[in-house]
Amino acid sequence: MAQLVQEYLDQIRAEHLANTDGALADYIPELARVDPDALGLSLCLADGYVYECGDSATEFTIQSVSKPFTYALALDRIGRQGVDAKIGVEPSGEAFNEISVDKNTKAPKNPMINAGAVAAVSLIPGVSADHRFDQILEFYSAFAGRRLSVDLDVYASEKATGSRNRAIAYMLQSFGVLDGDPDEILDVYFRQCSINVTSTDLARMATTLARGGVEPRSGRRVTSAAVVQRTLSVMVTCGMYDAAGDWVSAVGMPAKSGVGGGITAALPGQLGIGVYSPLLDAKGHSVRGVEVCRSLSVNLGLHFMSVTRESRSTVRASYDARPGVRVYELHGDLLFAGAEQVLRNIEQECSEFDVAILEVSRVDDIDATARRMLAGMREFLTAAGKKGFLVDPDDTLRLAGVPDSRATVFATLDDALNAADHAVSGPPASDR
Ligand code: GLU
Repeated sequence: MAQLVQEYLDQIRAEHLANTDGALADYIPELARVDPDALGLSLCLADGYVYECGDSATEFTIQSVSKPFTYALALDRIGRQGVDAKIGVEPSGEAFNEISVDKNTKAPKNPMINAGAVAAVSLIPGVSADHRFDQILEFYSAFAGRRLSVDLDVYASEKATGSRNRAIAYMLQSFGVLDGDPDEILDVYFRQCSINVTSTDLARMATTLARGGVEPRSGRRVTSAAVVQRTLSVMVTCGMYDAAGDWVSAVGMPAKSGVGGGITAALPGQLGIGVYSPLLDAKGHSVRGVEVCRSLSVNLGLHFMSVTRESRSTVRASYDARPGVRVYELHGDLLFAGAEQVLRNIEQECSEFDVAILEVSRVDDIDATARRMLAGMREFLTAAGKKGFLVDPDDTLRLAGVPDSRATVFATLDDALNAADHAVSGPPASDR
């Protein structure tokens, strides 16, 4: 059943593979040299479990996907007031490299465009470029749960060609926004853009955001929930630059893209997504990255405006009611991430039982995705020589379209346990 989600991701990737629209970034030779067909897709659940497919192990440079993380670091180190004094939070509706500031405050409009990102670097306290950068690399690595590295060739090229960013930094200095030497700050910014990641790293980093600042595998707190809340807010409104409105309507997740071909998207409380596909649209977003995120959002019901309730701690209890008969009591709302968690538990434990009973009388609501996944669970259990029963007095989980679902759905736990006894030991003699 983990297999079910895996197959689904493989299918999404296959659907989008043929799309060759867009062009590689070519402002530096390293970006123009990558494989245009690469498509990596990773999904990291709130407990750190990762599904990945395609070129998910291919490293590419993080580029502007770095911006929310450096902004978070600035918030973490000097606090909101200090950051707000230098960087706004209003969508600019402009391209990422627009040479612009707010008319009145002279501060960059938000931290997701280059002007704001350069200002954010200047807010990281440090005695030298190396000192600032070390903190950045360490912070990103903590989000990803592994030590990240820098692509030195990309860094050298960024540094050699970054006239526009230089113009931005000097403009900010003239307005009194930049603390420090513009060239030193730019050096750090170019290095931060050149950090290598994979789509799986981006998924993990997004999940750390989705978990309110806790890296899921180690359980380590990287930054505070308040920092994450602010960072995700700015990602929602400004992360996709002048395509932010379209993105929020169609995909509905805080996200950030980069010209290296990466996109990171976080669904608070539930999961993180990372995509890598280097062919870009006119606005600098990965063409297939955007399309894949759209599909995931629609098909798995991930739009954050449709997820208004907690959906993580879905398994309330699990216990053996009889030898070979395990009961899983679910509660809350069953959406993609909750259903995935239930199915993965059942798959991992399925050698320990003959019958799994899902007690769903305390489930308030279930969406179409979770219903499809539960239907898949029954098929999986049958194929594994096991049985899957549901206790569903309110018919919340009626498995529409699934043949013989009536035979495995019961009104009470006792009814399901009786049926399980038959299944485990065969019907009593009087019934034979
Ligand atoms: N290094 C690029 C720049 O600062 C990043 C742009 C992007 O990824 O959107 O121009």
